[in-house]
Amino acid sequence: MEWIVKKELPDYEFSPNLRSTSTTTLIFGKCDFDKKTIELNKHLYNERFNYWMLYLDIVFHEIAHGKAGNRAGHGRKWNGIYNRLLREYNVDMEQAKEEKESFYYKVIVPLQQKKAKTTMSCPSCKRLFYFQRNVRSTYMCSHCNKELTRLH
Ligand SMILES: [Zn+2]
Ligand SMILES: [Zn+2]
Repeated sequence: MEWIVKKELPDYEFSPNLRSTSTTTLIFGKCDFDKKTIELNKHLYNERFNYWMLYLDIVFHEIAHGKAGNRAGHGRKWNGIYNRLLREYNVDMEQAKEEKESFYYKVIVPLQQKKAKTTMSCPSCKRLFYFQRNVRSTYMCSHCNKELTRLH
């Protein structure tokens, strides 16, 4: 994907090194306006051939940030560039959405499980939450606001 970043944003570097596996705020990609880098989740990069539409979606999302500028946010300018890129490179967004779900459960969750010191579950929606430390406090489910039950 380096060549697309080079073509669309000649003064940016492509850096697929983000290590995020967070349950609550998993970071797929990032456009750093100061360092001029398009950063990408390392795990997504390693698995890109299995999640190609998701991969393109994330890369174009961040390229559009780079082209639209720091202050554009996800506004009209950003949106126009993003949609133009999706069309130009034939990104199937339905497929990308499915891949996002599957990437999360097949790649990210096993990584979280491997690192977890504490696992909690929501009694209502049954989602699992992994903590990379021993947790003693009370936590609420970010989706249903019910108190989480500790599994181990
Ligand atoms: Zn964004
Ligand atoms: Zn819940």
